[in-house]
Amino acid sequence: MSADAMAGGQGPRIGELVERFELEKAWLVDPVLGREGPGEIVVVDGVLESVNWLEGPEAAGVTDRGVVVAPGFLDIHAHFREPGFEDAETVATGSAAAAHGGYTTVAVMPNTQPALDEPGVLALVRAAAAASGSPVEVLAYGAVSVGRAGEQLSAMGELADGGVVGYSDDGAPVKTAKLLRSAILYAGMLGLPVVDHPEESELTAGAEAHDGYVASVLGLAGWPAAAEVQAVARDISVLADALGDEPRARLHLTHLSTAGALDLVRRAKAEGLPVTCDVTPHHLAFTDEWLAGSRRWSWEALDSAGKARDPWADGVLIAAPYNTSLRVNPPLRGPIDAAACLAALLDGTAGAVATDHAPHTVVDKEVEFGRASNGISGIETALGVLLSFVEAGKLPLMRAIAALTTGPASVMAASVRTASSTAARPRGLTEGAAADLVVFDRAGRWTVAPESLLSKGKNSPLVGRELPGQVLLTIAGGRLAYEAADAGESGD
Ligand SMILES: [Zn+2]
Repeated sequence: MSADAMAGGQGPRIGELVERFELEKAWLVDPVLGREGPGEIVVVDGVLESVNWLEGPEAAGVTDRGVVVAPGFLDIHAHFREPGFEDAETVATGSAAAAHGGYTTVAVMPNTQPALDEPGVLALVRAAAAASGSPVEVLAYGAVSVGRAGEQLSAMGELADGGVVGYSDDGAPVKTAKLLRSAILYAGMLGLPVVDHPEESELTAGAEAHDGYVASVLGLAGWPAAAEVQAVARDISVLADALGDEPRARLHLTHLSTAGALDLVRRAKAEGLPVTCDVTPHHLAFTDEWLAGSRRWSWEALDSAGKARDPWADGVLIAAPYNTSLRVNPPLRGPIDAAACLAALLDGTAGAVATDHAPHTVVDKEVEFGRASNGISGIETALGVLLSFVEAGKLPLMRAIAALTTGPASVMAASVRTASSTAARPRGLTEGAAADLVVFDRAGRWTVAPESLLSKGKNSPLVGRELPGQVLLTIAGGRLAYEAADAGESGD
């Protein structure tokens, strides 16, 4: 970004309208148009006044390896921990972290304390978002069941009237098939999806790490892939059944991590069932061998025949084992499952990348591996992880951006009520619309460190690692959401 891109000397502060911002000779990515190339943008009074695609000599020297402009990202699964767990994250710190990651809209999960199972808790989240001063749009899911206890349905109708974007008992699966069926029917009538965390809890009781070679060697209790596959099979069959009674029924399966579960979704979609799913950056990029101390990317852990390599034989165990920042639900799988997540993203089975941003306090992570809280603080590293795939030639840049923008927007568009909300608005670089965009420098590498993360959650296995794609500027709804410390300073 040019040193004086933000005109007027003193630029706006966080939350203030961006009165004037010009960017010359950047690489523009518009996933709505499916177009990318050299271009210039001008923002005036918070509106994306002009988008000028450059051609010929004007475009000379502008490549997709430098400064990139993309629509603001949409995260359909994050945890901002408020109310109840403000030591781990607040709506304010979560919003700041989101903007640092390039996100302008985030849908937060209802596993707060109290759970977001009635409109009063939704009002608390809304008030915290307004008080944060951040322009990042915070959307919320309501709980499926009262207290997420899996016994009786929450105040679903009132929550819909209040503006939730779906229902989930995330942190845990919807407890029984019977409750799930009722929830899918009611949610369908209300024009909203049920978002399930698919896990067969009987199979995962006491489980610590993906059931495989690494767990065996490390002596960790195995967490079978079947626990996810079986839950997805349950959920899809319940959806198919409920559709007979309520054609607006919709199901979204979040953070799928196994080839078997993704195959079930692929087949269900081919049969025309209204089911969508997402995958996370960590299940795409990390594998269970990281628990033993490996830090190679998932694709580097496969041999040329597509088989999993042996991290001990390869001598890649460079970090301390049992790092609790790697404890996550579902667990990090082997490289073949990670490759299945990527294949699902590439063929459209998984419409979106969702971060499952799960910040935790140091206290909740500085314990034995199996006793640590599940989750990775990931909303600030999602872009860098996906750009690592791009750099390795595993994912086109356009597809990576689409997975963070139009992909999750299309998940929101699948249900009647969210389709007409701002959540499903097309995420392109649209002239005349409120500026909602991220500017990042693909060549600008940054080192993940506790002090470089705006989230209170420092529980990232990427701490100490250099990632591509430094976010320079995020504008949400025409207002400044994030600006890199050195981005607005004078160059001379
Ligand atoms: Zn979950």
